[in-house]
Amino acid sequence: MKPMIRGGVCLNAHPEGCAKETERQIAIAAQRTKSRETKTAPRAVLVVGASTGYGLASRIVSAFGYGAAVFGVSLERPPRHTRSASPGWYNNAAFDAAAARQELVSVAIDADAFSDAAKQAVADAAKERGIVFDLVVYSVAAGVRVDPVTGETYTSALKPIAAPFCGSTLDAMTGTITPLTAQCATEQEIAHTVKVMGGEDWQRWLTFLSRQGVLAPDCVSAAYSYIGPPVSYPIYRDGTIGKAKAHLEQTAAALNAALDVRAFVCVNKGVVTRSSAVIPVTPLYLSILFKVMKAAGTHEGCIEQIDRLFAERLYGAAHTIPVDTHNRIRIDDREMASGVQEEVASRLARVTEENVARLADVQGYRHDFLAVHGFDIAGVNYE
Ligand code: NAD
Repeated sequence: MKPMIRGGVCLNAHPEGCAKETERQIAIAAQRTKSRETKTAPRAVLVVGASTGYGLASRIVSAFGYGAAVFGVSLERPPRHTRSASPGWYNNAAFDAAAARQELVSVAIDADAFSDAAKQAVADAAKERGIVFDLVVYSVAAGVRVDPVTGETYTSALKPIAAPFCGSTLDAMTGTITPLTAQCATEQEIAHTVKVMGGEDWQRWLTFLSRQGVLAPDCVSAAYSYIGPPVSYPIYRDGTIGKAKAHLEQTAAALNAALDVRAFVCVNKGVVTRSSAVIPVTPLYLSILFKVMKAAGTHEGCIEQIDRLFAERLYGAAHTIPVDTHNRIRIDDREMASGVQEEVASRLARVTEENVARLADVQGYRHDFLAVHGFDIAGVNYE
């Protein structure tokens, strides 16, 4: 079984590879928390968007690092006769099997997170078990959302707003660098991206769960976001997705005012996931970033980031959760360190197809991309 990659998207996934990759993350989370003294720890955690990337890592750290009961909501494709399942489907199976072995409470809900039915299913399952959540992680990355009130379908776009964007992208499988141009989004595309990736659904989740009485009085909620380097601002931070992330920040403030929860936007580091791989400029920027951060000894993947988020921010030694001037939790500090960013910017300005193997960690990026789909995992016989 080989990866089927079309237009930078991997269409299949390997069951054993996904299971091994999930187990690798479980082992890291367990090992890291074992050696630590923790005064506070989450007892019951809900992760919305729990099957891959940052959501999966959050679920793993909660369960296998801190022993919390974990509810995970995700929308994944089961296997069919001629087609593999989506990676998250295999990850969910591996997570549940490992949780069962350790007698941890794991409730996986395969449903559209944007629907009211998913919210009701979580509340019902929590009440059935007498559980109230003290941490709710919102880690959904979706291209489409059906509004549960109107039934209207919204599609997000990854486009600049002020001016067309010109940049370069890397095909990590071949090492080729090609120029890319993205045209400006329309007003409708901006509004639809905010509808899909902004804070509306996060707010609906917390409001619903609060009314259902399944949020603990000291409940914390974190919705993940990204800022990244100035070179990507036109397409990311100042683009359609950036508008959605700004809406997420406004939502955090609204939630803090309206509900008895402490809601934060948490800015994470750039990593390879199914969602980030399709963002223009990301493969080139991330492969250079990885080279620079690995040389500095500060590189992190999803599991290392979330382990540090829990240990040093959410459940750290300080009595309060450290935030920046916009009330955001920052765990992208190592990526955004000035020395790292200056070196990355200098390499981005010089990179060509001839020197990319030297200036960037193309191999590392390629491995991460394949591993997300269960490929290129040591010990798996793909033949
Ligand atoms: P991902 O693609 O790995 O995970 C997305 C998750 O959302 C999956 O579990 C998927 O099942 C779930 N999902 C999608 N649509 C759904 C639906 N309709 N119903 C239920 N579940 C659904 O993505 P990721 O990169 O881990 O992104 C998660 C969050 O982290 C996003 O908000 C993203 O902006 C943020 N983030 C990502 C990066 C990065 O570099 N990847 C960096 C910083 C922040």
